[in-house]
Amino acid sequence: MIPSVLPTYARAPLTFVSGEGSWLVDASDRRYLDMGGGIAVNVLGHAHPGLVKVLQEQAAKLWHTSNLYNIPNQQELADRLVEHTFADTVFFTNSGTESMECCVKMARKYHHANGNPERLDIITFTGSFHGRSTGMISAAQADKLVNGFGPLSPGYVNLPFGDHDALTAAITDTTAAIMVEPVQGEGGIVPIPDQCLKGLRDLCDEHGILLIFDEIQCGMGRTGKLFAHEWAGIEPDIMGIAKGIGGGFPLGACLATEEAAKGMVAGTHGSTYGGNPMACAVGSAVMDTVAQPEFLADVSRKAGHFRQALEGLVANHPDVFVGVRGAGLMLGVECKVTNIDVVKAGYDAEVLTVPGGANVIRLLPPLNISNEELDEAVARLDKAATAIEGTL
Ligand SMILES: *Cc1c(COP(=O)(O)O)cnc(C)c1O
Repeated sequence: MIPSVLPTYARAPLTFVSGEGSWLVDASDRRYLDMGGGIAVNVLGHAHPGLVKVLQEQAAKLWHTSNLYNIPNQQELADRLVEHTFADTVFFTNSGTESMECCVKMARKYHHANGNPERLDIITFTGSFHGRSTGMISAAQADKLVNGFGPLSPGYVNLPFGDHDALTAAITDTTAAIMVEPVQGEGGIVPIPDQCLKGLRDLCDEHGILLIFDEIQCGMGRTGKLFAHEWAGIEPDIMGIAKGIGGGFPLGACLATEEAAKGMVAGTHGSTYGGNPMACAVGSAVMDTVAQPEFLADVSRKAGHFRQALEGLVANHPDVFVGVRGAGLMLGVECKVTNIDVVKAGYDAEVLTVPGGANVIRLLPPLNISNEELDEAVARLDKAATAIEGTL
């Protein structure tokens, strides 16, 4: 008999009843060190007192009004995002997928508004992940995303990752935009080198096409800058964010320059919940902490410490691990054994990691985690690796 919850997830046999900072607690009081952070969502950890307070206060005042009316919390969060990023304007959503859908619609509408409606193809790359809507699986085109779900939506050109010649050859007079994650997340923590991001910017400028970044996983302070593309010293025209911005409350956004957004006039796009008072109250509180230069510098310092410790772990377990890659507190450890086995051994050692593409385990901890907790995570991963070695 089919479970009452549609069985689309291969869930771990773990159930948590509470959380505190970087820790998750189950019903028998076992404490797990959460290095997955709800897949890069819990940027300030679990039950952060400041976020709890903001949410409780907002909950007692007003939950939802719809976008038929002005929403001051939404205005405040938009102002914060505009202040701290390349963007001039923001559309709010409830998830990453919806943010990327808005990015694509906006890029096409831009060319339409310019009198070039034929410019509608979005160039994407293998190994990318942009969400699970029919549109966003058509963008990423991986077999496991699209198999059995019928015809792909037209208007996406998926190219091999890192093939510059294929990219230049694929740009035609029907190209609207290039869409890319500055650090691929689901694909296995694969950073795009700064030089390549700069090259993408130049290519877009040269051909009058838009550059869309998907910073849903790599953004919100994860790499030690508020957004990962800042390391390359370039800016996109449009960017999708989600995950970390809500700190665990469902919230996403599409950020854009005034020029790129020029086709998105009243009536062209909308969302019932998008940017509701609850979500935006939390989003502003997250921004107030994460956008602080000291907070971001601290992320970078801890990331350096953590990465060094992980390199040591890999060196000590050459039969289990291959290497470390990533940026900031968005790290992937490539495994020699099957990554799922490492994730499972982690459960026994009470440390939570997330499997990713290319046989990596992903480490996406809360950004306010302490150095001591990062050391503890490495100690627990060491224990997990030793347990695996005993079975080889
Ligand atoms: C998680 C993710 C998405 C999809 O976000 P949802 O909130 O699950 O819809 C899109 N792009 C990237 C890079 C992601 O990591």
